[in-house]
Amino acid sequence: MDAEVGVIGLGTVGSMTLWQLSRQGVSAVGFEQFGIGHDYSAAGGESRIFRTAYGEGLEYVPLMLESYRLWRELEEESGNKLLHLTGGLMIGNTGTPFMDNVLKSIERFGLDHEVLDQEQAKKRFPQHHLLQGEIMVLDTLAGGLRPELAVVSAVKQAEKLGAAVHSHSRVERIEPSGTGVKVIANGKTYQFGKVVISTGPWTGAFLPEYKPQIAVKRLAMGWFAAKDIRKFQSDRFPVYIRESGEDKFYGTPTFEGSMVKAAFYINYGIIDNPDGLNRTIMPDDIQLLRNAVQKYLPDLYPDPVRASVYMDGFTPDEHALVGAIDDEKHIILLGGFSGHGFKMATGIGKIASDLIMEGKTSFEVDHLSPKRFHKMNA
Ligand SMILES: Cc1cc2nc3c(=O)[nH]c(=O)nc-3n(C[C@H](O)[C@H](O)[C@H](O)COP(=O)(O)OP(=O)(O)OC[C@H]3O[C@@H](n4cnc5c(N)ncnc54)[C@H](O)[C@@H]3O)c2cc1C
Repeated sequence: MDAEVGVIGLGTVGSMTLWQLSRQGVSAVGFEQFGIGHDYSAAGGESRIFRTAYGEGLEYVPLMLESYRLWRELEEESGNKLLHLTGGLMIGNTGTPFMDNVLKSIERFGLDHEVLDQEQAKKRFPQHHLLQGEIMVLDTLAGGLRPELAVVSAVKQAEKLGAAVHSHSRVERIEPSGTGVKVIANGKTYQFGKVVISTGPWTGAFLPEYKPQIAVKRLAMGWFAAKDIRKFQSDRFPVYIRESGEDKFYGTPTFEGSMVKAAFYINYGIIDNPDGLNRTIMPDDIQLLRNAVQKYLPDLYPDPVRASVYMDGFTPDEHALVGAIDDEKHIILLGGFSGHGFKMATGIGKIASDLIMEGKTSFEVDHLSPKRFHKMNA
């Protein structure tokens, strides 16, 4: 046996799982096909939004609060600042499922917040051009995470605690063996008691039976120059998500002092093979970003000064797949985070280590069962 657990893919959730396992004293080996902290996949672009009042569903709130606690612990252990609290604005019309869930999360869990009607919102955050009837909800426990540094911090901490890491090592396949699982990589066969598959957009390529359930979407982000950058500093311009009709738009304040990040939640194309992701920004990508910035953030110049392309795996209901996928419970899948998985990665790492060590977790994960679509198809 090479170790108790093998973790395949050390991106967002794999890195946090390796860290959590190592903290619990579980021997673990991680495999990553690229370098640690690379930006060729779902993580990258300097920031990811953290928020707790959760438009995607109230059931996530305890996971967000646990993830927050763990982000702070990772900062303490690594000495790196990873989460910058700026507050988070949820912008839209009341009555949409997203805003309803935000308000219900606040009520159910007593989250610290402010509701701003249109007049108050315009006065306090004039950088956003509001459409008729739109309001803002300020979630106090929200801000920007540093994705590359977070992944590197977790992997380095895991290594300090005894984990072995094989970077630039693509796992070719796994094979169940009587007592656990064999992992084939680097022309070698490794033997583990259990494995975690956290291969992000490559999950469908690695586990073809999950390909129909995880569509890989190409996603672009832009960084814009401001007419007055002081208006976009973190004390005046919180991270935000807005749903204005069909448009779903999000962004952060300037973290490095000269550019403001903004992006659209839209489908820039489904990718059949993640190895072939087109990372070049195309004229259509620019046009979408320009239009959105012109419409919603008139104090930014609409031509991005920088733009980059990433990808993420999306399930049909946009909730991830988290749990064992074999009868023996030797193989744990963490995949399909559907454009909103970064903030919860520390908590997901904890859930994965609970599932491995105890076969269960105290967190609500029924809605994330990897088998739920099998049931639908049956
Ligand atoms: C543009 C964009 C903006 C986003 N904004 C936010 C946000 O603001 N807030 C938020 O919470 N979430 C956000 N998300 C979503 C979040 O970033 C993703 O859901 C999350 O990063 C997915 O994590 P993952 O571990 O599944 O995938 P990844 O981080 O991509 O990790 C998968 C890893 O597995 C490796 N791998 C794959 N196959 C193999 C193999 N065979 N052998 C070895 N290694 C392998 C890959 O190289 C990669 O490192 C955003 C996503 C995108 C793309």
